[in-house]
Amino acid sequence: MASTEYSKELHIALLAVQRATLLTKSVFHSHAKGTLDKADASPVTIGDFGAQALIISALQHNFPDDEIVAEEEAKDLRENSKVRQTVWDLVQNSKLSDDAAEKELGGAIASVDSMLDIIDKGDSKGGSKGRIWAIDPIDGTKGFLRGGQYAVCLGLMVDGDVKVGVLGCPNLPVDDSQPLTEDIGADATDAEGKGVLFSAVQGKGAASRPLGKGSLANESTIGMKPISNISDATFCESVEAGHSSQSDSVAIANKLGITKPSVRMDSQAKYASIARGAGDLYLRLPVRKDYVEKIWDHAAGDLIVREAGGQVTDTEGKRLDFSHGRTLKENKGVIAAPKDVHQHVIEAVMSVLGSK
Ligand code: AMP
Ligand code: MG
Repeated sequence: MASTEYSKELHIALLAVQRATLLTKSVFHSHAKGTLDKADASPVTIGDFGAQALIISALQHNFPDDEIVAEEEAKDLRENSKVRQTVWDLVQNSKLSDDAAEKELGGAIASVDSMLDIIDKGDSKGGSKGRIWAIDPIDGTKGFLRGGQYAVCLGLMVDGDVKVGVLGCPNLPVDDSQPLTEDIGADATDAEGKGVLFSAVQGKGAASRPLGKGSLANESTIGMKPISNISDATFCESVEAGHSSQSDSVAIANKLGITKPSVRMDSQAKYASIARGAGDLYLRLPVRKDYVEKIWDHAAGDLIVREAGGQVTDTEGKRLDFSHGRTLKENKGVIAAPKDVHQHVIEAVMSVLGSK
């Protein structure tokens, strides 16, 4: 591996996310088959804790001085021995099949207690200084439970700027050229031909590769699809109406002359899907005035789309600002589109939202 800026960070982030998806995939399956004891805890909780532990452990081994912002804290696990044991069993069973790759991540976590301490290392306040990783161990938890899309997300920010982004999307098709269909967000599986790792390094473009179980597969460069006529665009939005206004998105689509219905899917799989040109636009339109977006829900996707030739801003056209701690408190909503049509989309968004 050539050593260019952030190449080690990218390599470790890819392997760490790939390893974490081994765990989330196993929970996804046992949930789908109903073999997970419901009395223990929600499968999301178990998957979240386990994936977070595996990723932080890999980051700590390689970059011990870096700070980490992650969604979960271990308090509940410390209090519930049954759930703790379930998570610990899963963590111990989630090993990359390639010994060298597993070693690069520091190998297995030493004990249950160290697993709890590792989970709690994700408590950084974030901010505008230094190296800070943002982790969403399972983004799109509702999709994870419904059998839809979900993503394991990891981004590295340096002085508030996203430098490296990785998204593991176990239920997306490997084929970058497969256009989005309306059913992508429902009844998803990680069967043959599914599972993608997306990545980007600032200034170096974006890539995808099949999600594997050991060392990394070869990557392919991805890019957004040029749009000659905005009315032909395919736009993505949340499945959950509580996360993004589906009535505002209809009004915006009308304004742009788009007649195709939206493609609804959970998680940052939306960013990934437009970055590889399977779809064109991603609209996230605030439902509640008081909701602030979390950095771990956007860091990786924002960079991957921009490196694929897109622009990502909030609903007022401001770039997402990751330097204000754990939340995007200076932004409202998200609008992602190919660079040359982004301003046009923002005008439609502002005219619809402004007239409310
Ligand atoms: P999505 O799968 O795109 O709908 O986004 C999932 C993310 O939405 C979760 O990780 C939550 O952090 C976030 N979320 C929770 N409540 C809201 C809300 N009211 N508005 C926007 N996002 C939310
Ligand atoms: Mg999330």
